[in-house]
Amino acid sequence: MASLSHDVFAKVRGHERAEQLRAAREADVLPYFRTLEGPAGPVVEMEGAERIMLGSNNYLGLTGDERVIRGARAALEQYGTGLTGSRLLNGTIALHLELEQEIADWMGTEEALVFTTGHQANLAALGTLLAPGDTVVADSGDHASILDGCLLSRAKLRAFRHNRMDKLERALKKAADNDDGGILVVVDGVFSMEGDVAPLGHITQLCARFGARLMVDEAHGAGVLGDRGAGASELLGVEDRVDLRMGTFSKSLASCGGFLAGSHDVIDFLRVQSRAFLFTAAGVPAAVGAALAALRILRSEEGPELLARVLDNAAYLHHGLRERGFKVVEHEGDHMTPIVPVIVGDDWKAVLLWRALFDAGVFVNVAIHPAVPPGGALLRTSVMATHDRPTLDRALGAFASVKADFEAQHGPLPV
Ligand code: PMP
Repeated sequence: MASLSHDVFAKVRGHERAEQLRAAREADVLPYFRTLEGPAGPVVEMEGAERIMLGSNNYLGLTGDERVIRGARAALEQYGTGLTGSRLLNGTIALHLELEQEIADWMGTEEALVFTTGHQANLAALGTLLAPGDTVVADSGDHASILDGCLLSRAKLRAFRHNRMDKLERALKKAADNDDGGILVVVDGVFSMEGDVAPLGHITQLCARFGARLMVDEAHGAGVLGDRGAGASELLGVEDRVDLRMGTFSKSLASCGGFLAGSHDVIDFLRVQSRAFLFTAAGVPAAVGAALAALRILRSEEGPELLARVLDNAAYLHHGLRERGFKVVEHEGDHMTPIVPVIVGDDWKAVLLWRALFDAGVFVNVAIHPAVPPGGALLRTSVMATHDRPTLDRALGAFASVKADFEAQHGPLPV
């Protein structure tokens, strides 16, 4: 029997987060794994109290929409609770095909493929299209699932500093000069923590110059940006220059699942080659039915108003927080997104401020290292189209009153 002197479980006791976690639990300021007791609407029931939800990705507020619920219920009643197998063998239902057609129409691509989660869509695209010998050039702020896909592919990873086009150019030049395989650039269209938009116009020019393909993760852009809500690629007018687009149903589309949209040959290849698609069960019918219903609402006459409302609310919260003396991340090019991050800097202060807001009836997300660079802790607030102004005003009031007490106790917050 192997000796336990090199126990693989040893790391669970001494990991670097253990001390932080213990201290946060002891002080009862742990911002994670808090429990919802009802629907994820603009105001939620959470741990015995009502709290304004400024920490959700339900950007269009459609998770509680009657038509989306009906779509989920109809799928549940027609197909049952689960599909118990992969899309390949026994898990494809007509709703998947309808949804794939609807997404391809929406994105303006030849085809689309639906996955059980967005994380799997990224693993599938990157882990299958890239191979050892290829090079993948990724923004340092890209989502974890992108990094996982890159690692899975065993392609050479060249990361560049977040949104720095000089660094991207340098990475592409190095790849073109030194590497032998193909080159793929992969970026988030909207970055999930800071909420800023990738400069896709510049990125597409660099890709063309160096003969690289481009993939854009539209998880936070699709259902939010552009006249059709097709994402950052639409907003910035580069849809025809993006080779592959990824999206998720777990944000604006009020469900759970993911998609890739692109040319027929790429999607067809992924359909029969990607392990993250083939070797996992299809999403439950209710999830597919809900996403389809939500997408149809977005693509209906109601869509433009929903899109306008979420960005209006974001601008309102952004200005309101700034007026109350908070340091809010400013986005280059002034593109508003539903993500309105408040910079705190120090991890522990961020957690204490989170707790004070929680007690004042406002729930936000906390991003500390490694989700953000060291010393860049922030409170990630986000809005929905369904937040009304009195609710946002109440949240702003809570921010203002918490700030005064917090600064008296813990010193000034960044300005
Ligand atoms: N990409 C980005 C940018 C994301 O923010 C997320 C989810 N947080 C994902 C991919 C993964 O999507 P899903 O939740 O559908 O797995």
